[in-house]
Amino acid sequence: MSVYLVGAGPGAPELLTLRAHDLLVRADVVVHDRLIDPRTLALARSGSLISVGKGPGSGPSQTTINELLCDLAARHRCVVRLKGGDPFVFGRGGEELRALRAAGVDVEVVPGVSSALAAPLLAGISVTERTLARGVTILTGRTSHETRGFRLVAQPGVTLVILMGVERRGEIARELIEGGLAATTPVAVIENASCDTQRVAHATLAHLGALAVRWPAVIVVGEVCDEALVRSVAGAT
Ligand code: SAH
Repeated sequence: MSVYLVGAGPGAPELLTLRAHDLLVRADVVVHDRLIDPRTLALARSGSLISVGKGPGSGPSQTTINELLCDLAARHRCVVRLKGGDPFVFGRGGEELRALRAAGVDVEVVPGVSSALAAPLLAGISVTERTLARGVTILTGRTSHETRGFRLVAQPGVTLVILMGVERRGEIARELIEGGLAATTPVAVIENASCDTQRVAHATLAHLGALAVRWPAVIVVGEVCDEALVRSVAGAT
């Protein structure tokens, strides 16, 4: 009858919202993405899980997923569509919401803790540290912003948080330097934030391309990534 479009947070089940946890444990069906932590999936009822994990060029198309959700909604009382992080931050949650509503299905959206903010926080990076950053911009590394790519978003004093940027990290760094950021601007890369395998690496923009990074990772660019500052924030917690 209803589809719940639920954010699962960045990984650790402790970072699920109470609403997400409640829906997950009682759902008839849980349709989930690839990035959901196994400990979170273990909370669902046995036999309720359907994976629709998409990778670059693999997995079901968005249209197939939308149709599957509409079909399940007609047959079950509680269908959870579980997405990594927050459903509306690069999660195609908006597209699924529109497709379901157009088919006359009731939908409730449950926000989640996005990796865009949780990953820097868990690495001790205060993204809007008062004296260093007047804002934070969240970007995808996949598409270029018009023809000048990342050159257009290079602004000293604004922290950049880049999702899905692992593959193009060298190119992104080059474009940011061409756009006016210093090659010495500190950068941090946070892999598997909140999971047992979380790893944080620090570099400068000049060295981002050469840094070994494993997917999934969030890239943070800006003075707020300065290692001495990060150590003092981490020490205070
Ligand atoms: N809706 C999700 C983002 C989906 S896009 C959210 O709000 O978090 C997928 C990208 O998110 C990955 O390529 C990676 O950049 C980032 N990501 C998701 N989970 C992550 C994690 N636990 N650690 C680091 N990056 C993560």
